[in-house]
Amino acid sequence: MAARPLRCRFGMHKWVLRHEPETEAYHECARCLKVRSPYPSPLATYE
Ligand SMILES: [Zn+2]
Repeated sequence: MAARPLRCRFGMHKWVLRHEPETEAYHECARCLKVRSPYPSPLATYE
């Protein structure tokens, strides 16, 4: 498995807004493609 970008390993993702016609807008990391929920739980912990 390829190593993740160093900044992503530290939780410093490069969030970009994605929006597709059939889905809600969401944020995705431009480097590792991790998806972040646009509606995080109030109990969620932030990186
Ligand atoms: Zn990332």
